[in-house]
This record gives sequence, structure tokens and C-alpha cells, in this order.
Amino acid sequence: MALSYRPSRHSARRPQVSFEFFPPKNADMETALWEAVHRLETLRPSFVSVTYGAGGSTRERTHATVKRMVEETGLRPAAHLTCVSASRAEVNEVIQSYWDAGVRHIVALRGDPAGGLGTAYVPHPDGYHQTSDLVAGIKAIGDFEITVSAYPEKHPEAASLEADIDALQMKVDAGATRAITQFFFDNDLYFRFLDKVRARGITIPILPGIVPVQNFKQTANFARKTGASVPQWLADRFEGLEDDVATRRLVAAAVCAEQVLDLIDRGCTDLHFYTMNKADLVYAICHLIGVRADTPAPAVAVAAE
Ligand code: FAD
Repeated sequence: MALSYRPSRHSARRPQVSFEFFPPKNADMETALWEAVHRLETLRPSFVSVTYGAGGSTRERTHATVKRMVEETGLRPAAHLTCVSASRAEVNEVIQSYWDAGVRHIVALRGDPAGGLGTAYVPHPDGYHQTSDLVAGIKAIGDFEITVSAYPEKHPEAASLEADIDALQMKVDAGATRAITQFFFDNDLYFRFLDKVRARGITIPILPGIVPVQNFKQTANFARKTGASVPQWLADRFEGLEDDVATRRLVAAAVCAEQVLDLIDRGCTDLHFYTMNKADLVYAICHLIGVRADTPAPAVAVAAE
């Protein structure tokens, strides 16, 4: 891997970054979320997004978080929305409430099967059947910007990568103008996928979804469920660090830096970070690639060295 990219504040094209957050479950998580949001806001992301819990379980919390972002920050938030276990009328009501709150960007998703991963997806009898239908439904309500998902290693339910690209094409035809990928650790997977998508004539930006590995065990478990592969070299790097949080953090930063610098080296100009509502690591990676705040970052306390 050639790390020839030299970040510079004067480089011709500052990479564009966007950040994903999840809605908080309690007061402590709420404090942590807003600390992270305010810190990352200084980097002027092109947008931020807030996830929607499985089966719409965070409907109110997602809405409240996105609304607060509109009201209290200069950010352009996108609300994730799924159509699982809900009628069209219910989903349309959520879409309309976002429009009324001034939200103009939705990340449209089908959602996982209500019976859990690995079970068959059964659409709600009165609901949107697939993501492309949801995209069309959103467009019918308001002129939202619509982002969708993409799967460099194929969605676990898809018969083939080609079938998945067919689904992506349908989402684009319905009005999606950007896709964010499922996370991956081997950049070749992303670039091979991108080649296939471009060969099919799909031209929308396909943002690589970057997951900083804050906790290897958790990430590996999540990856197994989503069909993302975890290379042995990655497991080796975190081996033996289960109880050593400080070293784990440094290794996580090095691993993420390596991935992101390689993506940029190979032509990526837009990156999407799954922040897990934690700013530090993402902020540092952004600094590394030349994405800086206009004003100096507020001091962040660290343990004495
Ligand atoms: P889709 O594009 O709908 O595809 C799902 C499957 O259906 C694929 O196998 C596809 O090939 C197949 N398919 C689609 N259309 C057709 C068709 N016409 N004929 C045959 N097969 C078809 N989940 C949440 O619950 N909340 C979130 O906030 C959330 N955010 C996400 C953000 C990103 C960036 C990503 C990558 C995923 C996110 N997910 C979220 C997970 C997502 O909901 C699940 O992966 C879900 O199982 C698929 O929904 P989708 O819209 O991503 O996939």
C-alpha cells in the first residue's frame, strides 16, 4: 500500500466527510452524543445522519435528535428511515413530519426482517415492499435528497452481487442520488464493487462507510450479522488487547488511518464515518486527511502521560 497522499490545508480538493450517529437511549448517552456532534460539527461535514432503530424502534428518538440538529446546529442532518413493520400511511406520516421539521434529506432503507437476521423478509401488507418503493414514496411527499445503502460484499439475502446492483439501480431510478456502503476493511472489495457499479452505468456517488474499530469483538460480531468480512490480519492486530483499552485505541487509530489514507490515495473524495457517537478517533482521522476546523479545536483533556 502506497501512502503517497500528503494532506495539506492547501490541497486542491479537501476530502468531504459525513458522520453517522445513533439516537441516545438515556441521559448519559444523550450528553455523549451532543458532545460528539458539537466537536465534529466544527469540521463542517457535508451532512450528518441519524439511524433508525430496527423495526422503527427509535422512531421518536430519531425524530427528536434530527429536529434538534436542525434547530440548534448548522448541520444538514439526514434521517434514516425504514419501511419494515409499518404501513405506508405510518411511514408517510413520519416522512411528512420530517418535511415539516425542515429536514430535507432521508437515508431510505428497507430494514432487517422483523423476525431477525437470517429469517425471510415479509413486507407489511399495506407497506412499502422494498426500498425503491420507499424512495418513490418519499419523493412523492417532498423533494427530499435521498441516500440509500450499497453492499460491496453483497447484502446477506441477495442471490448475487449482480442482483444487489439491480436493486441499487432500482433505488437510483426511483430518485436516490447517493449511496453509502456497508462497512468493509479490505479496500479492494470497495473498488471492485465500484467498478461493477460504474460498468452498469450507475453514476451516483458511492460513499465508503468507514467503521473505526473501537471494540474489535463487538465489530466482528456485528460484521458477521451484516455479511461484512473480517480479515485475519485485522483480528491479528487486535489480538490480546481485549483488556488493554489504551493500546486498543491507538491500534484502532492506526488501522483506520491506514484504511482512509489508502482510500484517498486511490481517488476517494467523500468518506462517511460510522462514529458510534464518539468523536475523538474520527476527529483525529479527519485531521490527518486535512479536514480541519476553521477555529482551533477546544481543548480535550487526556490522562497525564
Ligand atoms: P435493499 O436495497 O432493500 O436490499 C435488501 C435485499 O433485498 C437485498 O438482498 C437486495 O438484493 C434485495 N432486493 C431489493 N430489491 C429487490 C427486488 N426488486 N427483487 C429482488 N430482490 C430485491 N437498518 C436499520 O434498521 N436502521 C438504520 O438506520 C439503518 N441504516 C443503514 C445504513 C447503511 C449505510 C446501511 C448499509 C445499512 C443500514 N441499515 C439500517 C441496515 C438495512 O436496513 C439492512 O441491511 C436491510 O436488511 C436492507 O435494507 P436496504 O435498504 O439496505 O437494502
